[in-house]
Amino acid sequence: MAQLYFRYGAMNSGKSIEILKVAHNYEEQDKAVLIFTSGLDNRDEVGFVSSRIGLRREAIPIHDDTDMISIVRQQTNRISCVLVDEVQFLNKEQILQLTRIVDELKIPVMGFGLKNDFQNELFEGSRYMLLYADKIEEMKTICWFCERKATMNLRVDESGKPVFTGEQIQIGGNDAYYPVCRKCHTNPPL
Ligand SMILES: [Zn+2]
Repeated sequence: MAQLYFRYGAMNSGKSIEILKVAHNYEEQDKAVLIFTSGLDNRDEVGFVSSRIGLRREAIPIHDDTDMISIVRQQTNRISCVLVDEVQFLNKEQILQLTRIVDELKIPVMGFGLKNDFQNELFEGSRYMLLYADKIEEMKTICWFCERKATMNLRVDESGKPVFTGEQIQIGGNDAYYPVCRKCHTNPPL
């Protein structure tokens, strides 16, 4: 039975490489996948899923008014799985579209993304994925500064100083993000 999966993790927990791996596993068996990514993501060109180890491939960019269920319906070949990168940037309506892809079209959907923003609040997309997903799985990585598990994301500005105020989503900024544990998020060793 098709299900909605939410696989979340801090920065650099391997979400994009996992999407590329899942897609490869389906396609190796001649099963088609549809890959979406946020149109907001500014780490790379819009419309690509890129992993830090260098692999990348095209994906359908999602904007505020993108109707994912109609895009899936328009496909001529049978889609075996829908993969969504940067799912935290989707709005509530789009998360509900993902539930309909699962429930009405009976296609499994796997959403990958951050759970919490740099101020340790939920993103809208993550909030509704947590509320609506059938399966929720954490992708683990290690704190940038110590040996603990990273559960939070630290924003630093161009000069490398931690930032704790500002917009949740910074477009075109030069800020960077580190995966950190709670202790290092509270008192960054910077
Ligand atoms: Zn730490």
